[in-house]
Amino acid sequence: MKKNIAIIGSGFSALSASCYLSKYGNKVTVFEKNETVGGRCRQLIKDGFTFDIGPSWYWMPDVFDTFFSDFNKKTSDYYQLDKLSPAYKIFFEDDEITIGDTMEKICEEFERIESGSSVSLKKFIKKAGKNYDIAINKVVLKPGISPLELITPETAIRVDQFFKTISNDVRKRFKNPKLISTLEFPVLFLGAKPNKTPAFYNFMNYADFGLGTWHPKGGMYEVIKAMKKLAEELGVTINTNSAVSKIDITNKNVKSITVNNKRKEFDIVLSGADYHHSETLLDEEHRQYSESYWSKKTFAPSSLLFYVGLDKKLKNVEHHNLFFDTSFETHAKEIYDDPKWPEDPLFYANFPSQTDKSMAPEGCETCFLLIPIAPGIEDTPQLRQHYFDIIIKRFETLTKQDVKNNVIFKESFCVKDFIKEYNSYKGNAYGMANTLLQTAFLRPKLKSKKVNNLYFTGQLTVPGPGVPPALISGKLVAKLINKHHNN
Ligand SMILES: Cc1cc2nc3c(=O)[nH]c(=O)nc-3n(C[C@H](O)[C@H](O)[C@H](O)COP(=O)(O)OP(=O)(O)OC[C@H]3O[C@@H](n4cnc5c(N)ncnc54)[C@H](O)[C@@H]3O)c2cc1C
Repeated sequence: MKKNIAIIGSGFSALSASCYLSKYGNKVTVFEKNETVGGRCRQLIKDGFTFDIGPSWYWMPDVFDTFFSDFNKKTSDYYQLDKLSPAYKIFFEDDEITIGDTMEKICEEFERIESGSSVSLKKFIKKAGKNYDIAINKVVLKPGISPLELITPETAIRVDQFFKTISNDVRKRFKNPKLISTLEFPVLFLGAKPNKTPAFYNFMNYADFGLGTWHPKGGMYEVIKAMKKLAEELGVTINTNSAVSKIDITNKNVKSITVNNKRKEFDIVLSGADYHHSETLLDEEHRQYSESYWSKKTFAPSSLLFYVGLDKKLKNVEHHNLFFDTSFETHAKEIYDDPKWPEDPLFYANFPSQTDKSMAPEGCETCFLLIPIAPGIEDTPQLRQHYFDIIIKRFETLTKQDVKNNVIFKESFCVKDFIKEYNSYKGNAYGMANTLLQTAFLRPKLKSKKVNNLYFTGQLTVPGPGVPPALISGKLVAKLINKHHNN
């Protein structure tokens, strides 16, 4: 029976769910509060410069391929994908590590830093590859309902990897601190410190070195455009400038939602907005998780971001650049253990116009800078400027060039914007971290325990933070809805 389904939000998870639910034969309507779709992945176009506002790393291309193939489409039907070579560069105080686009090149670079390390690296990535296969093809495809989902013949023999951390694993195999930082970097995408992330998550290292870093020509927003187009081709109705202010419940069932002060009736409601915010749209008695529940959770960092137009091309940089010239441990403590503005932050710099001419005017560079920070900390224009000055100075020294006087414009985005733009809990940038106690069935659930026809998707539920997990989250919840309501 065809159901009338409302989806709140239009991030990757909501758009993904909208496509599957429509394919299953339902009438699907999306309500997005902002002017454009995409959620954390939106686009800023200014004076000929194109910026991705949020995600910029296209990892796990197989997950995108699977998504489009579920609708008999290919990514190439919608966007051009290029493998970046090199994938990225890491700046340390006294050296640079360049991560190439093949294991061979990466092994050579590891040998340059630590003799014999390429042998350990190959073993490590082989193991990570097996975990990737299990994680992506088995574990993350489960809806997070029961602990039994995690028990498969493959995970049972790897149970120790859930109780050891990625930090232990990496440090056992490599001695050089630069190589350790390089191998601990990918799990930062999961939102927690490497010494709090289970070793099983080394599948992120396979995603990095084994599968490579890709770039959709025109930027990550091309993927959102593709998903919007696909959703509309499948019959989904998408409404922007449509904030949902209330989910109305009668007898433990959603009857309607309030959109721009008008009540609209639906059979089923799915929220792809931040889980915490989604529950605030309910009267308190219908919420599953208390404020104290959320406050005890480990959230992924927030970020201070800068979108900068430069009137010259830069040298000595790549498309993706990590600045690890200060202490990883100290910065991580300032995010997770003692939340405050970092003394000496690590940062990330993205110059998509290094490889994609379409992203900046001729002779210019599109520059995106990101400092991970603790969610919920003070955010003022003065603090933003202070940190811009700090990182630009370091950037100039490490890359041996002047930049400050080439800034044509600069816009920033921080905690307050995450809250205002996305109703994000404490201004988190990418959801709830994947720690041992926040994995799979231990995460907030896809289906409400209190309201029969209310569901959730996105980076605060299963499987977790990041674009590929968001695509999977939309698929999982759509399957669950189909199972509960359409059989
Ligand atoms: C700066 C940054 C960098 C990142 N980098 C990467 C990266 O390089 N690679 C990667 O894989 N991942 C990255 N991520 C993470 C990734 O972007 C997210 O995990 C993913 O986009 C989350 O998608 P989502 O569907 O869960 O939620 P969102 O994208 O947050 O979508 C939620 C939507 O709900 C809407 N909404 C909220 N409240 C309401 C309401 N009341 N009514 C209607 N609509 C509402 C919001 O406006 C938003 O559009 C990054 C994130 C950020 C912020």
